[in-house]
Amino acid sequence: MALLELRDVNTYYGNVRALKDVSLKVDEGQIVTLIGANGAGKSTTLRTVSGLVRPQSGEIVFDGAPIHRMPAHRIVFQGLTQAPEGRQVFPTLTVNENLNMGAYSLGNDREAVEANRERVYRLFPRLAERKAQLGGTLSGGEQQMLSIGRALMARPKLLMLDEPSLGLAPLLVQAIFDTIRAINEQGVTILLVEQNARAALRLADYGYVLETGAIPLEGPAEALLHDERVRKAYLGEA
Ligand code: ATP
Repeated sequence: MALLELRDVNTYYGNVRALKDVSLKVDEGQIVTLIGANGAGKSTTLRTVSGLVRPQSGEIVFDGAPIHRMPAHRIVFQGLTQAPEGRQVFPTLTVNENLNMGAYSLGNDREAVEANRERVYRLFPRLAERKAQLGGTLSGGEQQMLSIGRALMARPKLLMLDEPSLGLAPLLVQAIFDTIRAINEQGVTILLVEQNARAALRLADYGYVLETGAIPLEGPAEALLHDERVRKAYLGEA
């Protein structure tokens, strides 16, 4: 069953049409990846789903309800959160306080907040060790973990990740991808935007290729890994 579906979504920045009739589906329980070059519209797709930018036309349905006219915070309440590109942690708040910021949709349910925090700390033991440290003093990899952890605090059904491997050392990239798999195994459906197409397709069930705002190619991730066009354009093969 599709947990998230975009149907013919068009998003503009002024006169620039950044998304052109984008249609895609994320089935419940899956990891779906959206790959593409710089400026292809990957972040715009996630921002449109999150309600941070409005589509000019098309429909977005999440968990059976249309969300394309919902304010961003209501979309979070529905169970859809995003870990933004470039980490964007609050530098002057501690790790614990950063996590609290992700839990506002749980209201005053302190028990639920604490249970989620424990779950995040189990996924990211390094964050637990640094819970009193200021966000701005963490390493790049730790900030990435915190950004993902914060998005998990709302206990989402669907987590969207924008370039979680960006700027990380290879060893950390693997660790982040392993954690994404662990999050998925806990029952969270994942929509993953990545420039690291090979790693993303190895992790995902299904993939979409985005080129200048449109989707020319989609398929099971395994098939895309072996697709000649994908290999040439995105996997650096001759
Ligand atoms: P990147 O990996 O570099 O973030 P991307 O695939 O996520 O690339 P987007 O950031 O979604 O691409 O950008 C899609 C297009 O929209 C690009 O042509 C970009 O220049 C344009 N664009 C993005 N944000 C804005 C904005 N706030 N105002 C105007 N144009 C924008």
